[in-house]
Amino acid sequence: MAYVYGPVPSRRLGRSLGIDPLPFKTCNQNCVYCQLGRTRPLTSRRCCHTSATQVVEEVRLTLESGKAGPLDWLTFVGSGEPTLHGGLGTMIRAVRRFAPVPIAVITNGSLLCRPEVRKELNCADAVLTCLDAGTELLYRRIHRPHPELVFDQLLAGLLDFRRAFGGQLWIDVMLVKNVNDSDQAMEGIARVLARVMPDRIHVTVPTRPPAERWVEPASRERLLYARRLFGEIARSPGSCSHASEVPLPGDPAAWLSQVIVRHPLCADDLRSWFGAPYQGEFTAALLQLTARGQAQVVRRFGRDFWAGPAARYEGHSPS
Ligand code: SF4
Repeated sequence: MAYVYGPVPSRRLGRSLGIDPLPFKTCNQNCVYCQLGRTRPLTSRRCCHTSATQVVEEVRLTLESGKAGPLDWLTFVGSGEPTLHGGLGTMIRAVRRFAPVPIAVITNGSLLCRPEVRKELNCADAVLTCLDAGTELLYRRIHRPHPELVFDQLLAGLLDFRRAFGGQLWIDVMLVKNVNDSDQAMEGIARVLARVMPDRIHVTVPTRPPAERWVEPASRERLLYARRLFGEIARSPGSCSHASEVPLPGDPAAWLSQVIVRHPLCADDLRSWFGAPYQGEFTAALLQLTARGQAQVVRRFGRDFWAGPAARYEGHSPS
C-alpha cells in the first residue's frame, strides 16, 4: 500500500484509517515538535503531488478487503500538509461515495486563507487543525513557516472557514515548555480561540519524537491551567486505545513499515494497541526493518521511537 496505512488508534478519532496522499515530507511549516522530523525543503506549492485516482482506488480496495476491520474515521493526514495536494477536494468527494464512516482532515490550517482550500475542506465531516500561538512572533518561533505564510492571514482564513463550515472544527493546542506555556502566551491563544469558537479544543503536549531535541512537554500544571483558560470545551485527549482495538495485522513488518513513516511508534504503543503477548513479535519486526534500513530508532523523552528512514531529527543520524 502506498497511500493507505493503519488503522492507527487515535486519541481523538478512535480507529482511524490514514490516507496519505503526499510524498515524504511535503510541508510548508517546520514545526519544532514535528514527529516527522525537520522539513527540508519547505514548500508552499499546491499541486497534484500524487495521482488522486490512485489514492482513491487504494482506499476503495482497502475497505473492500475488510482487512482494516471496523473503523470510526477515514482521515487524510500523513507525510506533511494535506492541503498542499491540489486534488484534496476531489479525493474527499470520491471517497465519500463509498466511505462507511465520516471523513476527517488533519491540517495545519495555513492555507485556509485560500478560498479554494476552504471549499475543498468543506467536503469533510471534521477538520482538525492546530493553534499554538496567538501572535506572529510565536507562530514563527514554533512553526518556522514558509516565508509566504503570515499569521494574520492564517487567522483570517480560519475565521472565514469557521463561518462557512458545516462540519466539526476541532483545534489542537500543543504546549511546549518555555515556548508557549507562559500565562501571556496562553492568554493570547485563548483570545484567538474565543474568536474562532471551535467545536472542540484539545490541549496536548509533545509525546512523539520532536524534530528539535530541546523540545519538552509543558508541565501538567500548565496543561490544566490552559484547559481552565480555554473554557469548558477544552479537554486533554485520554489514552488512545487499549489492546485489541485494531485488528492484528497479518504481516507486522509490512504494517509497521507503512505506519512508522507517518507515525513514529514506541514499545508502549505496541503494548497498548495489540497487547503484551504480541509485543515480542512486533519488536522483532521493527528490529528487522531497522536492520534493512527501513526504520531508524530515535531516542527522545527517555524512550526509543521507531521512525521512517527519511526523517531528520536534530542531533540524530539515522544508522
Ligand atoms: S507538525 Fe504538521 S505542519 Fe508541522 S512540520 Fe510537521 S507535518 Fe508540517
